[in-house]
Amino acid sequence: MTDTTIRSTGLTLETGIPICQTDLPLDWYQEEFKPYAEEYLALPDRHPETVLPWLDRYTLPALDHFGDELLLLAHFYMGGEIVKLVERYQGAVSDSYVLALQALENPGKRIIVESAVHFMAETVAILSHPHQEVWITNPKAGCTMEMLAKDHLVEPIADQLLERYGDDLLCIAYMNTSGRLKALAGRTGGAVCTSSNAHHVVEWARAQGKKLFFVPDQHLGRNVADRLGMDQSKLLALPNPQTHGANYTLADVDGGLEALDAAEMILWGSYCGVHTVFTPEMVEHWRADGRRVLVHPESPLETVRAADGSGSTNYLWDAVLAARPGDRLAIGTEGHFVRNARVEGAKRGVDIVHLAEIPGSLAAGCGCATMSRNDPPHLAGMLDLLRQGKAPAINRVLAGDSVDEVSGARDRLRDDERAELVVQARAALERMIEVTERHQGS
Ligand code: SF4
Repeated sequence: MTDTTIRSTGLTLETGIPICQTDLPLDWYQEEFKPYAEEYLALPDRHPETVLPWLDRYTLPALDHFGDELLLLAHFYMGGEIVKLVERYQGAVSDSYVLALQALENPGKRIIVESAVHFMAETVAILSHPHQEVWITNPKAGCTMEMLAKDHLVEPIADQLLERYGDDLLCIAYMNTSGRLKALAGRTGGAVCTSSNAHHVVEWARAQGKKLFFVPDQHLGRNVADRLGMDQSKLLALPNPQTHGANYTLADVDGGLEALDAAEMILWGSYCGVHTVFTPEMVEHWRADGRRVLVHPESPLETVRAADGSGSTNYLWDAVLAARPGDRLAIGTEGHFVRNARVEGAKRGVDIVHLAEIPGSLAAGCGCATMSRNDPPHLAGMLDLLRQGKAPAINRVLAGDSVDEVSGARDRLRDDERAELVVQARAALERMIEVTERHQGS
């Protein structure tokens, strides 16, 4: 059985180091959150000595009110000091796989507040028990990779694929997808995967002899195929959804229907803007400097091949914790994560740099800007509004919601539609859990 209890990250709030994160400008905040943002912006500085007493005014009464029924969650990529703040208030920080299981494994937690991007909160909601409520501190916090794989983009193409290949098509949905795409995976007998178990899930799917449709990250798809020794020429990436949307037919793809028929795995064309900036030249630069280079598998194939190691966020954090005094690392992943890793490494004499921080690079330290929209005023406001029973419905996360991250508006399914989606999406998540547990046990 995989241990999905959340360990402390070991991160500590240091006095004197500013908490600088805000979702500026003020117009970006929902009306209900503006008073908290105004107070936060008016603080004389961002040092923990100043911010914490202000935050305590809102969070401590909420913690007291909800007691053991409240669970705060945050992803490792949360910017500023939010991960440290969440841990300070007895919350938990981890990667998307471990976060996804927290409602399921903690039935005593009735109110779950997540500081992360929407698909993570929605996955918690899909796996939650009926009496649990999942809330996101900022509904405009979306994952750009997922935003290029909304159901209105993917489903018209998936319908064409299903028409052509029928039951021979199996969809694998990376965790970075909406519940609607996880349900598509479930309907086709497929599974969800994360960056830590994608190779096991794809291996399991291949054993069924089906044509695979991997959504949404083309880079993770290529990297997993490479790890499994698959022939890269048997992969076919669909057009960039940013430029092509869903305005094409299968006959229009590179190589046409013949290429599609020959493909073992079809990749949706989305990508993560944070991870695609990493290049083999960056790897060579830091290796020449005597460093071990580790990258996340959402990076391009050539970069992953050039690196010394590649793996999920938890893999990268474990590598930081396992490094010995004198070790020197270059890490290619989200900028806030690397900044936190650098501070923790420095305490033990481990020297860590961000992979993109090479001379002349414009991509230095790139963070996940959308995830960082969950800032201290959003955390304070969410908890205070929940305590008062005044939390905006738009912050409640239900399975099947489709979110417009620009306005924060959500298209919510009817109850019967949601119930059907939950069955299908859960089936895909449970297949992932089964495949993962089997490998952990072996
Ligand atoms: S780092 Fe990239 S993949 Fe991860 S949540 Fe942010 S935009 Fe999405």
